[in-house]
Amino acid sequence: MYNNKASPDTGIISEDGRIVNIRVRQQLTSAEIHASSLTSSLDDNAALKTDLFAAYNHYMDRRQYIRRRSIKHYRYMRYTLLDDNGEFYAHIKLHIGDVVIIKEEESESYAIIKAIFTHKYNDDSVYAFVWIDWLQDTERTDGLLRCPIFVRQKESDARWHRIYPISILNEIPKVHFVHACRPSCSADTHDNANIQYYMNQYFYKTV
Ligand SMILES: [Zn+2]
Repeated sequence: MYNNKASPDTGIISEDGRIVNIRVRQQLTSAEIHASSLTSSLDDNAALKTDLFAAYNHYMDRRQYIRRRSIKHYRYMRYTLLDDNGEFYAHIKLHIGDVVIIKEEESESYAIIKAIFTHKYNDDSVYAFVWIDWLQDTERTDGLLRCPIFVRQKESDARWHRIYPISILNEIPKVHFVHACRPSCSADTHDNANIQYYMNQYFYKTV
């Protein structure tokens, strides 16, 4: 199997040996964390606390009480994804606000990255996580644009976990979503109270 080698500069590792060279950039300041309605303390947010425990439990078989109660937020993260033979597969770049694909057996789901963070576990290993809002298919289509309409998971909606190790992000996103902007959106900021997004099926980013 693989060695879970830490990246030399950051020390961040993944439980999935196919993920290497994990780099982070632009740590968020406390003011930025506050402005984005995030927190760096597990004890300030019930979803963060229970979902981080669930992520360690489910993906890493770790069930101890989490001793370190703080996390570090970053605006960007990138890593190298290897294939099953340990050969290069893709460079993955994550930004806050990106839409990502999460593959579960036959189906594909979509989510928006709300936060990218690292946490130091009890054994001093540093792991990388994403905090996501799921995009749920309403199975309705916009009459004019003929695009499927999705809705972003609300803050109060605890039906789905939000915290996952980055190993769930093992595909290069090939879908494009746009906010269903209303007059309350401005050029730089979208009105978060409006949770509707359109999936643009006619636009594929080819890199
Ligand atoms: Zn908007």
